[in-house]
Amino acid sequence: MDSSIEDAGAVPGGAEQTEEAGAPQPTPRAALPGPDSSIAADASGAAGAAPGPEAAAPDTAGERAAIAPTSLSPSRAGDFMQCPLLYRFRVIDRLPEKPSAAATRGTLVHAVLERLFDAPASERTAPRAKALIPGQWDRLRESRPEITELFADDPDGQRLAGWLQEAERLVERWFTLEDPTRLEPAERELFVEAELESGLRLRGIIDRVDVAPTGEVRIVDYKTGKAPRPEYSEGALFQMKFYALVVWRLKGVVPRRLQLVYLGSGDVLTYDPVLADLERVERKLHALWDAIRQATETGEWRPRPTKLCGWCDHQAHCPEFGGTPPPYPLPVRAAESGSAAQGRMGPD
Ligand code: SF4
Repeated sequence: MDSSIEDAGAVPGGAEQTEEAGAPQPTPRAALPGPDSSIAADASGAAGAAPGPEAAAPDTAGERAAIAPTSLSPSRAGDFMQCPLLYRFRVIDRLPEKPSAAATRGTLVHAVLERLFDAPASERTAPRAKALIPGQWDRLRESRPEITELFADDPDGQRLAGWLQEAERLVERWFTLEDPTRLEPAERELFVEAELESGLRLRGIIDRVDVAPTGEVRIVDYKTGKAPRPEYSEGALFQMKFYALVVWRLKGVVPRRLQLVYLGSGDVLTYDPVLADLERVERKLHALWDAIRQATETGEWRPRPTKLCGWCDHQAHCPEFGGTPPPYPLPVRAAESGSAAQGRMGPD
């Protein structure tokens, strides 16, 4: 690995910050190189977050416009590629979904890793990180009361204790993969949004951005699951190339490195993109967006059953499982032959 980016954001001479770990602090801003400051640190953008509450059927053109898709995040792009009907249920119908223990633990671990960087570099230790877990768990429950139902049938607290222990193990494993005492992230939990020339808006939240003294940018994403087998790594890298495209379009800088840190298996997957990669992803996203727009207008959202259906909350509404989708809330026109694209979308 190129040493200039390997040590991106390294703390020279162990320089310290003054904030206390655990205390809410504003996210560092405007540290990415480039002429544009429109990358905004604001996790409330919620791109890629779980779908919202079920929407009421729209009565007016304005209400209908409000539920039509207007932008793409990596998560929702992934939904459409996995199953167009799943995308509809999440984005158009906004059907509620049950909180998941694994996803909630991922949110908790992400919060801990982010807040750890509030501490002076020399104090970013595993014990300190683990000590952040109870406070971040309390904050998560306050902000999303529905997740308490995850442990509603756990009267003696044993399941919750095991779940929290697993969160500790994931946090500990991170210290075997990266050394936070040598990192000074330029950005954490960075909400990014860019509009392409076509008008397509891309948005997402980047876990961490490191910028080397040379200006080279590294985009880092934490995963609490296991690394995919090599033949599936392209799908995992799609999200990272999506972010790289957004950064390139906003800042005119092609990130030097994309880095996925898998806490579940202790692996780090890296990829050094070139401009042609980002141009390819852009073409791919335009094709995806065309297919989404066509499905939105025709109301034809095809189910695409795979083994991932086992994780889908919407089988009761899915024709593949004998269910019926809710009434389509948008006006429709006759489908064109191009809608066949729904069946062959993939990450690359
Ligand atoms: S059950 Fe499967 S096919 Fe049906 S909506 Fe969910 S992911 Fe799609």
